[in-house]
Amino acid sequence: MSQQAYEALSPETLAARIGAIEAIRNRIGDPAAWTVREVGDGNLNLVFIVDGPDGSVVVKQALPYVRLVGDSWPLPLKRAFFEYNALIRQAERDPGSVPEVFHFDEEQAIVVMEFLAPHVILRKVLIEGGRVEGLAEMLGRFCARTLFRGSDLAMPTARRKADAAMFLGNVELCDITENLVFSDPYFEAEMNHHTPALDPVVKLLREDIDLKIASQHMKAAFATNAETMLHGDLHSGSVMVTETETKVIDPEFATYGPMGFDVGMLIANFLHAYLSQPGHAETPGARDAYQEWILGVVADLWAAFEDEFSRLWRSERTGILYQASLFEDQGHARGAEQARLERLAAIWRDTLGFCGIEMHRRILSLAHNADFEKIEDEATRARLEARALMMGRTLAVARGEITSMAQVLDLARATN
Ligand code: ADP
Ligand code: MG
Ligand code: MG
Ligand code: MG
Repeated sequence: MSQQAYEALSPETLAARIGAIEAIRNRIGDPAAWTVREVGDGNLNLVFIVDGPDGSVVVKQALPYVRLVGDSWPLPLKRAFFEYNALIRQAERDPGSVPEVFHFDEEQAIVVMEFLAPHVILRKVLIEGGRVEGLAEMLGRFCARTLFRGSDLAMPTARRKADAAMFLGNVELCDITENLVFSDPYFEAEMNHHTPALDPVVKLLREDIDLKIASQHMKAAFATNAETMLHGDLHSGSVMVTETETKVIDPEFATYGPMGFDVGMLIANFLHAYLSQPGHAETPGARDAYQEWILGVVADLWAAFEDEFSRLWRSERTGILYQASLFEDQGHARGAEQARLERLAAIWRDTLGFCGIEMHRRILSLAHNADFEKIEDEATRARLEARALMMGRTLAVARGEITSMAQVLDLARATN
């Protein structure tokens, strides 16, 4: 198959096209007995579930264009290469955190991976008011492990530089982030759309020079600080869960960037879940306790990130930065601790900045969050979205003055 030119799969052709691949066949059995369902609900790619006599796999294939928009917006197939390379690194850096990869075909832009079942997309669970045991801890640890272990804090520098060079080649997907996330919300970009009743708030935000500057400071950090391998698209639609298990999927936006980006995007999506709850409450107030649970997840996620980052700082600083030979070995262990706290403070500040901007783009730019989109009553939706926009503005602009998670939670409660 790899000798053939690229061709999109379909449920009808899939078994004939990839049935001969042993890594798949051995796992799920005779292709003559496969059944294939297309399940992709994402914005970009084809996703199939293939059920065989002995098991199931997921087959994800990139399309040469953006699925959400159509072939008028071409997008390179190479994103499957970045997704595959990110998945195998994440599996190494945080074992069990992502679906196992069974097969990769670069030419056909296909990744064959573990079928996560009975997992469902976290965003859906948050809209329905469901809880997941260990969610915050897993996500905080995932961020700490992948971000720390992909950086010069841990990696041999030649490998880190090679990986940075490779992942910085993910130009077109970075370009989507650079435009859709950091710029489009702040002017009338072509693909923007928003709930009409938000017009006055949107006008205010677009006249807000401090906010515009903040968005560009964060864009500069994203585009130029090639600190570590990011997931790059770490929102609640890229997390799959059961009641007790959490997995991360869909790292095709992987690039080298600043640590706060993934953490900030995740927290923004939890804050959207929090602020949108009144639009999903069966009766007024019915989601109050659930909202507090979400805030608990945000707090615990950051705490787990800090804990694991600190543990790795103390035990795994094997890269070229803050070497033990300069600190611990000289009797300056306290210096290493001070440096750790200063690094964490910088990540925190970036996290808040990225969080605020992400809260804007998911309401004003192209790809919106179902958390708000699913609220049918437009007046309710606009009211809740306006709150999220105002909170995002505060986080982005005042990121240097907000020094504790308690302040963020208070701000969320005051905004709600
Ligand atoms: P896209 O890049 O197009 O957003 P995703 O990787 O997010 O594609 O996959 C789209 C959907 O397919 C997910 O929302 C999920 O429902 C399903 N899916 C993707 N990967 C898996 C998997 N490994 N196991 C089970 N379902 C999956
Ligand atoms: Mg996705
Ligand atoms: Mg909308
Ligand atoms: Mg994707």
